[in-house]
Amino acid sequence: MNYVGRFAPSPTGPLHMGSLMAAVSSYLHARQAGGRWLVRIEDIDPPREMPGASDAILSDLEALELYWDDKPSYQSSHLDEYRTIAERLIDAGLAYRCSCSRRDIRSRGDEGPLGYRYSGVCRGRQLHLRDTAIRVNADSARGIFEDGLQGECAYDVPAVLGDYVIFRSDGLPAYHLAVVVDDARQGITHIVRGTDLLDLTGIQIHLQRTLNLPTPVYIHVPIIVNDAGQKLSKRTGAEPLRASNGNAVAREVLNYLGLKAPRELHRARPAELWSWAIENWEIDALQGIKEITLQSIHTGFAENELQ
Ligand code: GLU
Repeated sequence: MNYVGRFAPSPTGPLHMGSLMAAVSSYLHARQAGGRWLVRIEDIDPPREMPGASDAILSDLEALELYWDDKPSYQSSHLDEYRTIAERLIDAGLAYRCSCSRRDIRSRGDEGPLGYRYSGVCRGRQLHLRDTAIRVNADSARGIFEDGLQGECAYDVPAVLGDYVIFRSDGLPAYHLAVVVDDARQGITHIVRGTDLLDLTGIQIHLQRTLNLPTPVYIHVPIIVNDAGQKLSKRTGAEPLRASNGNAVAREVLNYLGLKAPRELHRARPAELWSWAIENWEIDALQGIKEITLQSIHTGFAENELQ
């Protein structure tokens, strides 16, 4: 099989240890398989983005000598394609326009574990207004998929979320649509990413089936959480990486992935650490692990080793 993997960051801030986990695990897994590794900037949500973050992410990856294949792709250059596909689903009767606000939905009292659940009030309404959201009929979105690390995962979208949004009422495509369309266009065969996205995978599989697209292999690696159990992210105060200190950053992320670099690589360039990791990483050591606490790693190194 011609393996094609990817790292797909949203440019909401600079790279931090949490996002680097997704980058490095997808990179190592692709390179171990002799495959290609693409970088895709998921810049479809300008209100959440930070100016300059896309360039900062790419230059940090370069400083860390994590070299991708092809040119990076940008979701913002595919907005017309997402719109056309969403409208085609409406024409096929698989999606519909919806004018309900969050407040309307909440006031119906239909809360689900991911926030609110949408029961399909607008399904039969044939709305043609421009500033409506577009939702996919999710009645058949139930099943089980086999994750490469997390085993059998059951999903039941109608119970959790209901008909899900693929285009927002502000005219922006939703993450699920863009991710599924791009993975298919780019021929992605393996998706290695954090367990924070595990619960959303069923929605993406349903959307692939609705659009007649292939389902890649999914492998969800543990996410890093802080002492309070929160995912390391810009919002929870993750520090941007000091990519200039590439050796220490690379050794730290490898440690999270279960690899302790030998002494002779303690001053090596990041690229040498990655080559060593490609030879030595056994992803199965992460089987079933959903989270790793930030602290556990810092006990792995004497402070001065990380300087
Ligand atoms: N852009 C998403 C994020 O940064 C990741 C998408 C994915 O890997 O499927 O959380």
